[in-house]
Amino acid sequence: MADRSLRGTGLGAKSFEDEAGVEFAPRREVGFDCPRAHHFELVFAEEAEIPSVWECPRCGAESLRSDGQRAEAKEEKAVRTHWDMLRERRSIPELEDLLAERLTLLRSGELSAATFARTSAPSTRAKKTA
Ligand SMILES: [Zn+2]
Repeated sequence: MADRSLRGTGLGAKSFEDEAGVEFAPRREVGFDCPRAHHFELVFAEEAEIPSVWECPRCGAESLRSDGQRAEAKEEKAVRTHWDMLRERRSIPELEDLLAERLTLLRSGELSAATFARTSAPSTRAKKTA
């Protein structure tokens, strides 16, 4: 829709200097209030990250968003990693026990022998057909 004004529109089309009918990129106004009750509004692009505080243009005090939105609330929704999920279920001493158990199996040959036999099977079969 917005690129309509950029296409050739032929002779007699309205002047591009006239802003009426020209669609701007989506944007929104966000209100801020400073501790001295100065209210001001700023225009941000729709996709921009809106800060939760802004310096008051009249007194320079730290102003908070009028809509009560705080950036911190968004940060709480941070993506949980596999490690985070694992840590919710297991404590560090438990994980150390598991690691020690696995290492013992690996060093004794039990674990590697089983894995090796399984992974090497297809290659030996491939040799036979060649
Ligand atoms: Zn102010």
